[in-house]
Amino acid sequence: MNCPNGHGTMPLNKIKKKTVFRNEDISVAAEVHVCPVCKLEAGSVEQTAGLQKAIADAYRRKVGLLTGEDIRIQRKKACITQDELAERTGAGIASIKRWEGAHIQTESMDRLLRKALADQNHENDLSGCRAFSIDRVKLVLARFESCLGFRLLKKNDKMLFATKYLWYADMVAYRDLGRSMTGATYAALKYGPQLNNYRDLLTSIQESDTQKAEPLTTEEEALITKICRAFPTSRTAYNAAHKEPIWKNAPIGSIISYSSAIALREI
Ligand SMILES: [Zn+2]
Repeated sequence: MNCPNGHGTMPLNKIKKKTVFRNEDISVAAEVHVCPVCKLEAGSVEQTAGLQKAIADAYRRKVGLLTGEDIRIQRKKACITQDELAERTGAGIASIKRWEGAHIQTESMDRLLRKALADQNHENDLSGCRAFSIDRVKLVLARFESCLGFRLLKKNDKMLFATKYLWYADMVAYRDLGRSMTGATYAALKYGPQLNNYRDLLTSIQESDTQKAEPLTTEEEALITKICRAFPTSRTAYNAAHKEPIWKNAPIGSIISYSSAIALREI
């Protein structure tokens, strides 16, 4: 880049830019071309846009609003798209895109964004970032059966053993892949982790259709194989689950959250 005043090339400088934005003193680090002779500053279109975003974010940080990056990161953590966040806040998708960029949301919209993201995180903690699919429960169990070489889903079964495999599959998938396999919620019961409200689910699981389930990904299949190798018999899976602090420390009847999956010890 050359100085328009005829002083030759303008080297790229890292500067601390101080400005007043909406009556707030803002200071941001920026990269601009500066003429060594007349001190003229000039930036490329990208640099200028980057600077505007940096100022907007510095301002938002200063007045306690979520920054564009905060919104984007929390939305990703909440496993929702810009579309879904728009739906949950009643804002348009174009607005969500702008707020994740350099536009500044109002205080009331900031509260709505925070609430929607927090509610979603709470929901994810129960479902492991996936809508519950009973067909997928059956599909995952079928995969375990073929990998283990024995039946898990028996007639009138209370799934005392089947659930241990299912629980590990969901928890490990959430921990390692960021998403559970079935979206099931688990409760800490006396005989180990169990599907929440499992009595209501038993018949539906037996009657569900694996053809309707979203097929397992290669990564999911690999995880199931890994769990089969770690726990080759029902008893080993059962005993392992009973050694897990996230079950042992949970009050009987309480939900075992997916965020606790990082504390799994047996696999
Ligand atoms: Zn110059």
